[in-house]
Amino acid sequence: MKKIIVAIDGYSSCGKSTIAKALASYAGYTYVDTGAMYRAIALYTLRNNLTDDAAIIAALPQIEVGFVLANGAQHVTLNGEDVEPFIRTLEVGNTASRVSAIKEVRAFLVAQQQKMGVSKGIVMDGRDIGTVVFPQAELKLFLTASPEVRAQRRFDELVAKGEKPNFDAVLADVNDRDYRDTHRAESPLRQAEDAIVVDNSFMTREQQMELIYKLFNDTLDKLV
Ligand code: C5P
Repeated sequence: MKKIIVAIDGYSSCGKSTIAKALASYAGYTYVDTGAMYRAIALYTLRNNLTDDAAIIAALPQIEVGFVLANGAQHVTLNGEDVEPFIRTLEVGNTASRVSAIKEVRAFLVAQQQKMGVSKGIVMDGRDIGTVVFPQAELKLFLTASPEVRAQRRFDELVAKGEKPNFDAVLADVNDRDYRDTHRAESPLRQAEDAIVVDNSFMTREQQMELIYKLFNDTLDKLV
């Protein structure tokens, strides 16, 4: 059975990882959450009080980002430590958005991500997967949803984690992150020309998965 690369890009909090994980498990593929890799580097910079770009670039040789399976779920590691419990906060998300604008940080992680895809059979999500990491991916999806819908999802996640977020602050954060992701000089978030756009603002999870499994199967059928 031929294997493909599935590249899933889109704005923050539009459900990329949920969809990517479900598709990977449906297809028997490896799932790679590249946002978690940027978040792991962000955590390193926060823990070590690295604020300027030069210090962050100089620290890259001391940083190793990887993945481990923990209770059936994929967790990101930072120098061997499972840091999944620490990377999903607003602070780490915002820092990730900042460190991901540094060219050297992107080159460091992109090289690692490309190695993960050499045997195909991979579903990778992020911001630059269909444009930079795997421009040759057989299936490219670009997910989007309105900022208000995404802020509400992010708000609900934070509440579920026991945090007490303020909706307006979460919405402002979503808008700020969109702006930074789309306006940075290095690999800004943009839709690849051959990506299929899925706006899931008003789709149920079931409707989305039905559509995405169909797109995946259609792509496989078209391979010779
Ligand atoms: O997807 P997630 O919110 O976990 O990503 C955290 C941050 O990492 C994003 O705001 C984005 O700036 C950055 N990122 C990136 N390129 C990727 C994945 C994430 O720049 N491929």
